[in-house]
Amino acid sequence: MGKGLSAAAIGSLLENRGLKVTFLKLDPYINVDPGTMSPYQHGEVYVTDDGTETDLDLGHYERFVSTRMGRLNNVTTGMIYESVINKERRGDYLGATVQVIPHITDEIKTHFLAVKKGYDVAICEIGGTVGDIESLPFLEAIRQFRFDIGRENILYIHVTPIPFVKAAGELKTKPTQHSVRTLREIGIQPDILICRTESFLVKEIKEKIGLFCNIDPEYVISAIDVDSIYELPLVFQEEGLDKNICRLLGLGGKEVNLNGWHDIVQKVKRPKKRVTISIVGKYVTQTESYKSLVEALIHGGISNEIGVDLDWIDSGTLIDRDIDSVFRQSDGILIPGGFGDRGIEGKIKAIRMAREKKIPFFGICLGMQCSVIEYARHVCGWEKANSSEFDEKTPFPVIDLLPGQAVDIRKGGTMRLGSYPCMLRKKSFAYTAYGVREIAERHRHRYEFNKFRLELEESGLKVSGISPNGNLVEIVEVENHPWFLAVQFHPEYKSSPRNPHPLFASFIKSSFNAKVLL
Ligand code: GLN
Repeated sequence: MGKGLSAAAIGSLLENRGLKVTFLKLDPYINVDPGTMSPYQHGEVYVTDDGTETDLDLGHYERFVSTRMGRLNNVTTGMIYESVINKERRGDYLGATVQVIPHITDEIKTHFLAVKKGYDVAICEIGGTVGDIESLPFLEAIRQFRFDIGRENILYIHVTPIPFVKAAGELKTKPTQHSVRTLREIGIQPDILICRTESFLVKEIKEKIGLFCNIDPEYVISAIDVDSIYELPLVFQEEGLDKNICRLLGLGGKEVNLNGWHDIVQKVKRPKKRVTISIVGKYVTQTESYKSLVEALIHGGISNEIGVDLDWIDSGTLIDRDIDSVFRQSDGILIPGGFGDRGIEGKIKAIRMAREKKIPFFGICLGMQCSVIEYARHVCGWEKANSSEFDEKTPFPVIDLLPGQAVDIRKGGTMRLGSYPCMLRKKSFAYTAYGVREIAERHRHRYEFNKFRLELEESGLKVSGISPNGNLVEIVEVENHPWFLAVQFHPEYKSSPRNPHPLFASFIKSSFNAKVLL
């Protein structure tokens, strides 16, 4: 529906007005966090600096505003119940019957208070759809909250579709009328409607919606379909959304200046040049699973004024295919993160080709681990080299758990998560890209490249980034190659359109240069 992007775009406009903005995403599922959920079901798991595994909407927030997200910014039903049940067992509610209202709703409200501390505006996004059973306690909590903090300090924005029915040649307002009625039945009158439509709503339609939904037509906003998500702040501003929000909440703030966003949109929509990047992964039909990655590639394009075309390749199919023809159009190859052994051999085949044929290559997390395996097999000649994640009995576990790490631990929240420092070696692709010696990047993995490091380095694999204590390899490179770099961390989480990540910028640039040289 676009609630996450709408929230993020509103945040960017308010921040642009000089206000301090933060977010809270409320997810109605019972998982304590999305870390254990399949990307097929839930899309990408986004990781914050403090190592919280969160909903991908937090990625949108961080790409649109400068406030960094963390532990406080994502709450799930599972988390709320876990905390209430722990309190009940401890005896905190002694004597009381513990109920959804007030105990669950009170617990939810503690999160509103915690997140808004130190900010002018906290934008709380409730996942799911109005009418779902699961999200009711969250809606009830925001209903009550208006009384707790005063009606002038909160406003309700409802994101709703206005479909255009081709056969009738008409915009249909009924779904919106129904969802607003459902909201009003539970005591919430939306102040603003963000209407998802194909094109701008005319005055008469806004008046009709306003009449049926009990909303001033001025507060009916068209959120038209856009080619680039970074146009959304421009669309909202044109519709007067930020001005109306500030008026309703009595917030000051200076006039917005959207030159920066205009510039970004211009570069995304009308680039001077183009490159094709092949992404070899497992969830190629589920591009939501690679949300931050796709955005980071676009950002890499923005910083070079290069349009990035993506070519998704299912690693599972590569083994039986003629690899040269699969990658004929590719200017660069990227292998993203992942879990489990499916498609691994296809990835290794693609890496071998990128290394030998000197096609720019970027490996991320699992993509880095596969690069090390590929190098061990085909340069060191250790045919059976592998990660112990995929082959516990391999004689060459070049990727392995660290000593002391157990395989049979609880799965939730137990990986190496969040931001870790990394020292770069001068004279490397990495140092050329970052331009500094010390960086910090976010991690989400269990296995490491640690054993056999010396042997691989002696065979020419270049370790260009290590943890400050020297124990963990964070970046590897192949020399005498236009650009072959693989990282144990996830640089895509820290990229934004206003600050494209240096590695993505560098990868796109090298891919373009390699294309020109061909
Ligand atoms: N499966 C690998 C590990 O756990 C890589 C994880 C990833 O790519 N995020 O180490």
